[in-house]
Amino acid sequence: MNNSMQTVRVELHSGDEDRSYPIHIGKGLLAQTDLLLPHLPQKRVAIVTNTTVGPLYLALLRTALEGQGIASIEITLPDGEDHKNGQTLNLIYEALLAQRCERKTTLIALGGGVIGDLTGFAAATYLRGVPFVQIPTTLLAQVDSSVGGKTGINHPLGKNMIGAFYQPRVVIADSDTLNTLPDRELRAGIAEVIKYGLIRDVQFFEWLELNMIRLVARDPDALNTAIRRSCEIKAEIVAADEREGGVRSLLNLGHTFGHAIENAMGYGVWLHGEAVAAGIIMAAELSRRLKLINEYDLERIRRIFQLAGLPIVAPKFLSEDYFSLMKLDKKVEEGRMRFILLNKIGKAMMSHEVPTSILTETLVTCMA
Ligand code: NAD
Ligand code: MG
Repeated sequence: MNNSMQTVRVELHSGDEDRSYPIHIGKGLLAQTDLLLPHLPQKRVAIVTNTTVGPLYLALLRTALEGQGIASIEITLPDGEDHKNGQTLNLIYEALLAQRCERKTTLIALGGGVIGDLTGFAAATYLRGVPFVQIPTTLLAQVDSSVGGKTGINHPLGKNMIGAFYQPRVVIADSDTLNTLPDRELRAGIAEVIKYGLIRDVQFFEWLELNMIRLVARDPDALNTAIRRSCEIKAEIVAADEREGGVRSLLNLGHTFGHAIENAMGYGVWLHGEAVAAGIIMAAELSRRLKLINEYDLERIRRIFQLAGLPIVAPKFLSEDYFSLMKLDKKVEEGRMRFILLNKIGKAMMSHEVPTSILTETLVTCMA
């Protein structure tokens, strides 16, 4: 038994259906298949992974499953956001059909957010829904994409435009897998971790200020604490608002600006977490100009992203270009842009209308 394992529950009860599930967090969990066993309705699973993660962790997982009498088939996809599309989804369906996977065959996502989103959408739709398990292997996937049930793929005309809400039966976040993660990917995940402190928990933010150096150095205890608290916060928010009608939108702090940066630079040039870091600085600057937070708060926010090695200055484009890209955001309703703002460190709110002049000043101040 792993003494240091921690479990966060995502509570989802609607109607008479209980879709609640545990997130197990700790070191060495990949080989602890007893955590999976209670969630598998059949002694057969299909593991979906990619050409980077598969060679690192697939054998370990399959051997552990075999030890429990669970047969697994392997579906290895090409790596990259470019492959999060209908064509790759079809590869999953084809493998499942060719191997005669049934209603009770569990799909396991072993990888980062791309694999999680693809596999989750395949699980939601194959035979109108089969059991789904997430084994996230990036920090971003462990603190964000594996929690909350959003699944989907990109369309040539827009990112994440095709998808479904579909919850996993269990999430297993093994922090040991982060040891092989490239530095830049680790830091990108830390951006979302900082976000949770900012929107919901000043004490967690303060803990992050004190422990950022340990986190960046991949200290296992620090990582596990950060993952646990991030999952707790996301789980609370998702439990309160599964389909993003209200409080869930606070998770988008910095994202309207961030998406504009990702898009303007060309997807993949800035990692999502990097764009979110610069985007959160823009949201914080906007909050300061609206007199919600003060200069000292803004400086603390800049400093923590700097400590994490994340960008705090947005790339230079015309303000009009930012405006038109921000209008593409999914949060735009009836043409009105809304922003997530900070009332203070640890508390976020949804904006009403923001005067264009203040928005323009904010953009100009935050660009390189
Ligand atoms: P990713 O899945 O592309 O992983 C990043 C890179 O790290 C990839 O090359 C991957 O192969 C590699 N990798 C993964 N685990 C590794 C490991 N342990 N060791 C070494 N390399 C490893 O990117 P991501 O940042 O994990 O996820 C981004 C995706 O998640 C985007 O498509 C985004 O839309 C989605 N997302 C979804 C949600 C949601 O709620 N569903 C939330 C946030 C993001
Ligand atoms: Mg994000």
